[in-house]
Amino acid sequence: MSKKVAIIGGGVSGISSALILGKLGLDVTLFERKKTLISGPPFCHLHAGGNLYREISDEQCITLLGQSIDFAKLYPQSIDKRPTVIALPSDDPQEPQMLFRRLELLRAKYKEIVQKQPDCAVLGESDNYFELFSKEQIIELSKGQEAEHPKSNREWLIPFAKNVDIESIKFPIIVVQEYGINLFSVGASAGLALESMPSVRVYRECEVTDVQRDNDGFFLKANNYSGEFDYLINACGFQTGVIDDMLGVKEKRMVEFKAAFTALWSQRSPYWPEIIFHGERGTPRGMGQFTPYCGGFVQLHAMTQDITLCRECLVKTTPQSSYPKLGKQLLKTIENGWESDEYKIRTKRAIAYLAKFLPQFKEAKVGGIPLYGAQQIPGVDPTLRVAEVAFPKKNYARCEIVKVSSAVDMVAEIIKNMQECGLLDEHPTTEFTLNEIQSLKREDIDSRAQKIAQTLGYPLEMSRVCNPL
Ligand SMILES: Cc1cc2nc3c(=O)[nH]c(=O)nc-3n(C[C@H](O)[C@H](O)[C@H](O)COP(=O)(O)OP(=O)(O)OC[C@H]3O[C@@H](n4cnc5c(N)ncnc54)[C@H](O)[C@@H]3O)c2cc1C
Repeated sequence: MSKKVAIIGGGVSGISSALILGKLGLDVTLFERKKTLISGPPFCHLHAGGNLYREISDEQCITLLGQSIDFAKLYPQSIDKRPTVIALPSDDPQEPQMLFRRLELLRAKYKEIVQKQPDCAVLGESDNYFELFSKEQIIELSKGQEAEHPKSNREWLIPFAKNVDIESIKFPIIVVQEYGINLFSVGASAGLALESMPSVRVYRECEVTDVQRDNDGFFLKANNYSGEFDYLINACGFQTGVIDDMLGVKEKRMVEFKAAFTALWSQRSPYWPEIIFHGERGTPRGMGQFTPYCGGFVQLHAMTQDITLCRECLVKTTPQSSYPKLGKQLLKTIENGWESDEYKIRTKRAIAYLAKFLPQFKEAKVGGIPLYGAQQIPGVDPTLRVAEVAFPKKNYARCEIVKVSSAVDMVAEIIKNMQECGLLDEHPTTEFTLNEIQSLKREDIDSRAQKIAQTLGYPLEMSRVCNPL
């Protein structure tokens, strides 16, 4: 008889586990306490090379590159195929040249991956992984006509070139094939695919309230539900510690609350690249991130204390509990949403921050509620960006991803652990490109994604991937 797997949490970790284990024919039950899948913290950037983080190791960047390729293969219709522009502000202590060595390393690595497995070329030609543009080239591009359906880096750069304050940044700028991810589309694709899998059950609005060890398995109680399982996957995001505490597992981890703000810049042309203005995290000159969505909506991060971050936002575990506790106000915000004035003030600050580099952007308005939430960072290093999963007890997996790109590798490790625990055959055919997702129709994904956006209170335009034809 097929082994029974319980997954607690319907974020990217939980749904990716359910999809891949369901495909293997395991008897999977997923519990999500909220109304929709993917209602935890947001994501918009496929970290295909970790180029947003100057401070992390080459090793983490290479891992993120490989993991992002796997993620893009699992959720192909949810990838926004637009490049990312990386610019250093003119007052930045570093020079763009300092980034070249890593970019070359990543390009060589991408080439190697694609040579071994041609279907991994999801970020385009490996030789074009990154490209540099001089000040003269940007001035020239600023005179060009915006392309209706941009294809080359040059075409993607035209709106940037027309709007950037040329004196506010250093040259060359870098254009790298780190794409975007549409979170609503991921939730929609996964939801539809899971419904087509006979061995998977998804319970929404169903909070797991107790988990106890039962021989080698687990006894689990949720709203209107109780049952026994052979294997437990704790995919509770920032609340994984709550389940650890129920099982008496001691662990060190951090939880961080962050928010990205929604602006509407109605005059802008439809296709923009994502833009990163580097800066030191947590200082008044923290990184600025401009993430375009359809319909003129833009998601904004500015890694300063008074915009995306805040002083009480990073908390740690204590010897008494493996669940780091955020303050009451932040927990209330996560549960019930933002008190309107504060998010509007922070959105306006974010607009002003990005307008230092893109002066016309000062015309943008508050476009909706922020994309926000808390996430876990395993261990004690707050700069860690790559983590997958831990197995603190027999038949118990605790998901610990920091970036969504790590989700597929995380499931691969869970499969290996289940084999070691004797719950899965030694060599099942493990397929991470699922027909159940590949065969979905665009209009069905879009219509489900709109419903998710509506339920979560976001503008419907944000639910669509914004790929030119
Ligand atoms: C502002 C912000 C921006 C971000 N941007 C990016 C980005 O661009 N790219 C990127 O890769 N990453 C990004 N991240 C990180 C990313 O959001 C997380 O890595 C990812 O969402 C974690 O997924 P998860 O499935 O592990 O956890 P979650 O998404 O938190 O899912 C956990 C789920 O478990 C449910 N749950 C909890 N307890 C229970 C229970 N007892 N019973 C039932 N259900 C329960 C919760 O409701 C939740 O839905 C960002 C994070 C933030 C905060």
